Amino acid sequence: MDAVIKCIECSSEYPISYTGITCSCGGLLQVEFREYPEVSWELFRSRPFGVWRYRELIPVPRDAEIVTMREGGTPLIRFSRIKEVLGVRESYVKFEGANPTGSFKDRGMTVGVTMAKYLGAKAVACASTGNTSSSMAAYASRAGLKPYVFLPKGKVAKGKLMQAVLHGATLIMVNGSFDDALSAVMQASRSFGVYVLNSLNPWRIEGQKTLAYEIADEVGVPDWVVLPVGNGGNISALWKGFKELKKVGLVDELPRLAGIQASGAAPLAHAFKEGLSKPRFVEHPETVATAIRIGRPVNWPRALRAARESRGVITSVTDEEILEAQRMLGRLEGVGVEPASAASLAGLRKLLDEGIIRPDEKVVIVATGHALKDPDIAVYHQADTVELRGDVNELSEVFWR
Ligand SMILES: *Cc1c(COP(=O)(O)O)cnc(C)c1O
Ligand SMILES: [Zn+2]
Repeated sequence: MDAVIKCIECSSEYPISYTGITCSCGGLLQVEFREYPEVSWELFRSRPFGVWRYRELIPVPRDAEIVTMREGGTPLIRFSRIKEVLGVRESYVKFEGANPTGSFKDRGMTVGVTMAKYLGAKAVACASTGNTSSSMAAYASRAGLKPYVFLPKGKVAKGKLMQAVLHGATLIMVNGSFDDALSAVMQASRSFGVYVLNSLNPWRIEGQKTLAYEIADEVGVPDWVVLPVGNGGNISALWKGFKELKKVGLVDELPRLAGIQASGAAPLAHAFKEGLSKPRFVEHPETVATAIRIGRPVNWPRALRAARESRGVITSVTDEEILEAQRMLGRLEGVGVEPASAASLAGLRKLLDEGIIRPDEKVVIVATGHALKDPDIAVYHQADTVELRGDVNELSEVFWR
């Protein structure tokens, strides 16, 4: 397989077997083909739908034993009722909550844990707002590796915490934010040599880019893809995926990408709006969307690049808009997502209002995680509740009101 790991800042190259997570210059690393393989949609479509359908475009060594739970292959659901509200012609939601542990993180983790095992790691670690730890704990267990998760204490949604416990991770509670947890895990990696599986890890991106492949495989290249942005790994992966499809000749066009942040944690939206070359980090990020409650996004250089190169945008929405969008998905389409995922619909509404996305354009929004991840969010949504005291006939006004 003709690929290398390359620094996006200084262009230093490392072999595929490199176990470091960043370049010696501190820059982000990316897996790159020296020569692209020959592939076709016919070849891919002869295999089951999912991450490993695109095996030739994921340059893990041929002799690596793949750690998989059939991740990816998630439903792309065409909007019916939301379409009427928004007035858009053709729009879809890619429901990543349908992955084995309930978020898109599984796409990156199948590749990341496969490589951890191949490279001889015995233990793996990550800092996480929740979903990375759920996914890493599950895949590490499957691979027989010991998972260590660094979590911002008291700030992880219940469903996610439960998964880390269920899959046997050692929980390291950090007094601080996600950003503090990430600093701690990077230090621990230097001191103890555990393999880090945060989205800094270039192999995570290699798995997550298959989101682009699956969208193109099913409906071609849309005009826009809208997705939530926290650390910026997923938007970088999506852009890499679409660009590669074009390089290997499987698509002719590229989409525009819209990254959506929560207004209380929006350093990239701010940098985009102000045209800054480097974002100003947010010390105390705040939002109900805990999965994107990130003040110092590690993938900021490639995330900003993805938005700018694609002629897209990074913008922000308020918590109220996020909760309203979560209800719309749940009550108009039957699609249950966690708050961070609803940021993409809130963002689409805003960009339609602003005339940046036009109603006649084809749009895919990415719903990154499942509603069951964050049950406590129910307090923000009104339920129509009736207490039955006596006879069922008393309910007549309930049924017909
Ligand atoms: C991780 C995550 C995000 C943010 O993705 P980044 O790659 O950090 O930008 C968004 N939504 C959910 C549900 C997530 O788990
Ligand atoms: Zn470098």
